[in-house]
Amino acid sequence: MSQHFDIIIVGGGAAGFFTAIAIAEKNPKLRVAILERGKEVLTKVRISGGGRCNVTHACFEPNELVKFYPRGEKELRGPFHQFSAGDTIEWFEKHGVALKIEEDGRMFPVSNSSQTIIDCFTDAVKKLHIPVLTGQSVQSIFKAENYWKIETQNEKYSCDKLVLATGSNPKIWEMIAGFGHTIVSPVPSLFTFNIKDLRIKELPGVSALVSIKVKDTKLTATGPLLVTHWGMSGPAILKLSAWGARQLFDKNYQFTIFVNWLNDIDASEAETILKELKQEHSKKTVSKKSPFAFPNRLWESLVLASGIETETKWADLSKIQLQQLSNQLTSGQFQVNGKSTFKEEFVTAGGIDLKEINFKTMESKLHPNLYFAGEIVNIDAITGGFNFQNAWTSGFILANNIN
Ligand SMILES: Cc1cc2nc3c(=O)[nH]c(=O)nc-3n(C[C@H](O)[C@H](O)[C@H](O)COP(=O)(O)OP(=O)(O)OC[C@H]3O[C@@H](n4cnc5c(N)ncnc54)[C@H](O)[C@@H]3O)c2cc1C
Repeated sequence: MSQHFDIIIVGGGAAGFFTAIAIAEKNPKLRVAILERGKEVLTKVRISGGGRCNVTHACFEPNELVKFYPRGEKELRGPFHQFSAGDTIEWFEKHGVALKIEEDGRMFPVSNSSQTIIDCFTDAVKKLHIPVLTGQSVQSIFKAENYWKIETQNEKYSCDKLVLATGSNPKIWEMIAGFGHTIVSPVPSLFTFNIKDLRIKELPGVSALVSIKVKDTKLTATGPLLVTHWGMSGPAILKLSAWGARQLFDKNYQFTIFVNWLNDIDASEAETILKELKQEHSKKTVSKKSPFAFPNRLWESLVLASGIETETKWADLSKIQLQQLSNQLTSGQFQVNGKSTFKEEFVTAGGIDLKEINFKTMESKLHPNLYFAGEIVNIDAITGGFNFQNAWTSGFILANNIN
């Protein structure tokens, strides 16, 4: 005997819960159920944003918001005009969760705890009588004439409409490929760079506003860079890892970057500045005080790397030393050997090919009554709350168009 529902949502994560709640609130008569393979639900929400859950980003213009998505920029334009960051704030407020904006635009629950988001979702499904069936790992999906049959390891289900919200799950992608869908091969996104280099070895914790280029590619990024025990992290590096997810994978994470520690000042401008400093501070020791807006420890290290000894005075700098220093400052070359996980947030680039999804409804273009929400599709964003925004927006669009 199989249990029948109007709509089954596979996946008890951010997208699955949001979709189920939005469907049931719009149409309480529909019998909706969530199937989740794990014992627990919303496990990624729990660990998200360092346990604080970065729910969305304070970017309220849909045409601006799409720019944070290396994959999905074009496709999300329409959906964001229907449900964007402002709507997310309103939605959570209506469900009893106040959000706050941090200086960098990231938005978190005022409680600073992802548990608030989990409670909000679990309370809502209870109130709406949506069964959340845990320990139900979907093993196979069959398409009958006008309904879907689903088998987990121990149960059978059927439904009129099937929503897949299983995130980056290879087994489900394989099943969907069996239905003729194209799966863009998955690669990691949002990682930090492993770099062993004397210039930064003693500098973990130091940060600077930089611009970075990846050698032999068009990849560039601007933003804060943070030196870590393993290499480099911070928004500028994470942006590169997202925009370059596929290219850097193809390079097996072995590549060279150029760091401009002065952000938008080029080598010749830097040389002019250094010549002026030489005049002004002729009697002072070069390494003693950073003339730029980054910590002295970094300055000292770059001075040393330019072949300038610790006690050298500005007046004694040769033309070549000035040039070397300006090069170190504006295009320091670093070799990346591998990547590390950024613990606060990571995602997978890849998933169901966007060409095969109708973004007005989130329905499959190949199979009527089959829908997708969240990370299962080939959409991902840089860090900052944008990945959850995709889960909320796709869930809303889907719920608004399913009946
Ligand atoms: C450490 C970490 C921190 C993060 N922090 C943030 C953040 O602060 N802000 C942000 O915007 N993004 C963050 N992200 C990204 C964000 O968590 C994801 O983009 C988001 O969770 C995607 O939601 P989803 O519902 O599509 O997938 P998921 O959250 O992965 O949920 C999918 C669910 O489907 C279930 N499932 C899979 N296969 C089956 C099956 N065969 N049968 C039944 N169930 C199945 C899984 O068990 C899971 O519960 C973070 C990610 C990580 C890993």
